[in-house]
Amino acid sequence: MDKLDDLVALSRRFGSDPEWVLAGGGNTSFKDGGSLYVKASGHSLGAIDRSGFCAIDRTKLDGIWTAGYPEDADAREAAVLADLLAARKSGELKRPSVETLMHGLFPQAYVVHTHPAAVNGITCGREGKAAFDRLFGDVGIWVPFVDPGYLLAKTVRAALEDFRSRTGAVPAIMLMQNHGLLVAGETPGEVEAASTRVMAKVLGEVRRLPDLAARAVDALEVADAAATLSRHGAALRFRSDGESLARAASRESFAPLTSAFSPDHIVYAGHEFLLVEDGASGIEDAWSGFVARNGTAPRIVLVRGLGAFSCAATLSAADAAILLYTDACKVAAYAESFGGPLHMTREKIEFIRNWEVEKYRSSVSGGE
Ligand SMILES: [Zn+2]
Repeated sequence: MDKLDDLVALSRRFGSDPEWVLAGGGNTSFKDGGSLYVKASGHSLGAIDRSGFCAIDRTKLDGIWTAGYPEDADAREAAVLADLLAARKSGELKRPSVETLMHGLFPQAYVVHTHPAAVNGITCGREGKAAFDRLFGDVGIWVPFVDPGYLLAKTVRAALEDFRSRTGAVPAIMLMQNHGLLVAGETPGEVEAASTRVMAKVLGEVRRLPDLAARAVDALEVADAAATLSRHGAALRFRSDGESLARAASRESFAPLTSAFSPDHIVYAGHEFLLVEDGASGIEDAWSGFVARNGTAPRIVLVRGLGAFSCAATLSAADAAILLYTDACKVAAYAESFGGPLHMTREKIEFIRNWEVEKYRSSVSGGE
């Protein structure tokens, strides 16, 4: 066993626990002298091995901070990606995670970045920043929502420098608005302990846990709804649980789910869920209205009295959609304890929908 094996074990531990990571999300890294080993695109943390990490030259990576980049977002991200690829150790062919720059900024040896629903109750809560200040302000940093990639890393860099100049220390944790958590430590044990503390503190503030227990509903009407939806997508998934039935019960209770919490949700479950208020027979009209409004088909259809369907071209896409929909339900429930839901802004949602989606999707699940 060497330290890269320790990184593999640490990655699998978090990657195989759905409370921390879903659908190939999250990434980890380890620094050893001049090298940074970071999760490569197309690998899932839960099943990763040594070959899933990309070796980066830290000196070249740091060189990105003194290089100049174009203002235009497309041109900038393309240039940064080229420099990121050029920073790989010789012979390294894998594509490093888009969040590599962010990993390189933390001086600690091990970095674990996850998207846990409970922590996202804070990062997606209207009073989340205040809760962060109270619970973690002395040991961590908070970053507002910024587009993934170079701009996010730049924002993290400024927050790190600010923390250092205020406290003389380096932060062990970072909460990222509408995104997730990062924990850094010199050993896997340190990362594990800090993560456990974060989760315990967050759960200590939570007044209502999401109710995801399965509920029995009218099987004939579920079959009716599925028959209608199967005209729109070859693959369907269905779940009925306390959270879905309560959210579908009225426009008001559905409100926390009417917009997107994080890029992951947009990428896998769509930027907006469709609520059908009048049972299986209302699906066609509601579907047409959604398509007319959005120019795209819904991935998630919530039918009052029944539950939630995901509808996609492939089973893996339908699985990922229902998984991330359930995550949104959890985040919405946890956010109740932190001032209520704070969605991404329209502008950021459109940014992810319009051009970042393909890049983001390929970066988090490329090759899968
Ligand atoms: Zn992330």
